[in-house]
Amino acid sequence: MALRRGFKSEAERIAKQVRADLGLNGSQSITPEMLANLLGIEIWPGDELIPRERFIELEQIQPGAFSACTLRPSDDRIAVVYNPLSSHSRRTSDLAHELAHILLDHNLSQIVRLGDITFLSCDQTQEEEAAWLSGCLLLPRALLLAEVRRGSDAKTIAKRYRVSEKMAQYRLNVTGVVRQHQASKRKRRNSRG
Ligand SMILES: [Zn+2]
Repeated sequence: MALRRGFKSEAERIAKQVRADLGLNGSQSITPEMLANLLGIEIWPGDELIPRERFIELEQIQPGAFSACTLRPSDDRIAVVYNPLSSHSRRTSDLAHELAHILLDHNLSQIVRLGDITFLSCDQTQEEEAAWLSGCLLLPRALLLAEVRRGSDAKTIAKRYRVSEKMAQYRLNVTGVVRQHQASKRKRRNSRG
């Protein structure tokens, strides 16, 4: 399914606004904790709610099944709960994904059951929007372009911004920054004759 027209630029705008609100420049890394703080949202490791063994069991039944989810413990509180077994980079992207849903004002409506754990999820379009926005939040286009200009590859970017290499590579591909950089290099070369 394709994202609606204009959504990608809207996502970059939101990412830029969030950075401005946090007083970050274009090249500073952002953490989900900073973002949650800005939005007044709590972050809980899942094993504060459910025993850690349950996550281990779930992982054995269906690997990767539970990443993170959003709860409303009371009317005035929102909490994002993450899988305590996830790696740091996985947790970062899962939390960014949940925070993206909140930034986009998505409503959690679909009930998903995993074993005997129930949680709410969004429809497919909203899932895709959150996935896209979370990438923009962690690695906005302008930041990627600046990194590519200084010769960074996906591995370097992943390390510097504490995301997975897969995510860094994905963002490099979908934003087209490598192509843009190469085209501008070609142009400079050609104009030199
Ligand atoms: Zn989602």
